[in-house]
Amino acid sequence: MTELITIDEARGRVLEAVTRLGDEPVPLGAALGRVLAKDVTSAVAVPPFDSSAMDGFAVVAGPGGELDVVGEARAGHPYSGVVAPGTAVRISTGALVPDGATAVTPVERTTAVKEHGSGDAVSVPDTAPGANIRRAGEDIPLNAVVLRTGARLGPAELGVAASLGRAELRCAIQPRVAILVTGDELTEPGTPLATGRIYGSNGIALAAQVERAGGVPTGRTTVPDDRDGTRAAIAEALEDADVVVISGGVSVGPHDHVKPALRELGVEERFWGVRLRPGKPVWFGTRGDRLAFGLPGNPVSAMVTFHLFARPALAALQGGAPDAPRSHARLAEPIRRNPEREQAIRVRLAQSEDGPVARLTTGAQGSHVLTSMLGADALAFIAPGEGEAAPGERVEVELL
Ligand code: AMP
Ligand code: MG
Repeated sequence: MTELITIDEARGRVLEAVTRLGDEPVPLGAALGRVLAKDVTSAVAVPPFDSSAMDGFAVVAGPGGELDVVGEARAGHPYSGVVAPGTAVRISTGALVPDGATAVTPVERTTAVKEHGSGDAVSVPDTAPGANIRRAGEDIPLNAVVLRTGARLGPAELGVAASLGRAELRCAIQPRVAILVTGDELTEPGTPLATGRIYGSNGIALAAQVERAGGVPTGRTTVPDDRDGTRAAIAEALEDADVVVISGGVSVGPHDHVKPALRELGVEERFWGVRLRPGKPVWFGTRGDRLAFGLPGNPVSAMVTFHLFARPALAALQGGAPDAPRSHARLAEPIRRNPEREQAIRVRLAQSEDGPVARLTTGAQGSHVLTSMLGADALAFIAPGEGEAAPGERVEVELL
């Protein structure tokens, strides 16, 4: 580790190395969470025609009176005649407003009149022009840009796309991410635990983070702490995936084989070591357009460094916004500063009269205390220095 760089500098070097992946058509039903790769423009107006906002009667607006009911317009079944003064057409919500009609009177404001002459009649109050009519294009006019490239598709975006008649959308290709966890001590959950071993948590947590970031985990492999095994596993991952995320084995101990293996495989180092706690020993490199992250093995460090450095890469590979939302909050309690490194403290956010307040999730915030991630809304950044950050101090927070 030559010289530690700042979080921003490290993130900048990651984003610099990213080339956007291509895009592909995706059926709406499979597009939840995907990143839009092409603006969506309306080829139809929504609603496509003037329609009734109420169940009632389509009338010619004007003074009230008794009107002959000459027909019916239902949703999906338009009335083909014309509404002339003195007549009305029974209409349901969503039905096309018939020619001639200029307003809809809700059924509650009318009274049926006993059979007179040829058929039904209805007594209606005064109506204003346009009353209870939804105009064509009121929701979306024709040729409007409705969804923009880079948008993350949620339920509302998918619904709007469907309302425009789109069956599929052009979406960014999802980055394929290989996850390698190193450590002879690691035991797969669901199997008995031998003395001196631990259940591995990074593989499953990182795979979930990958999915949240729109990536596709191509596999989780546990790699033993030996040079050849490490190199073989990384070599295979680099063939297959756009991004290789490795946890552990990236420090300077005699059993840390990740960096030498990456070097031998021609992965060029872009940074090694960030002025960050937890997460100082984080490594990033590239081979062609393949990205490789060497994350620290400590579970909190692995999750925090993934969030700060790998997640933005996955977003940028998809053409999405790489930055997680940032805002400010006041500290609820004192936090001892680290002399050299910026701290990423796991906090819960709450509202107070003074604005948002950040409270530590757990008393202990060590890089091995994974429960400090439970219920964390955000990372709060504590600048390096002497002494402590005082309660009430305003700090920057990044939402998780
Ligand atoms: P390392 O970065 O390999 O030196 O590991 C640092 C610490 O993180 C050690 O205490 C490891 O046992 C622990 N660790 C490494 N990988 C994992 C993992 N997948 N799950 C849980 N703890 C891990
Ligand atoms: Mg290790």
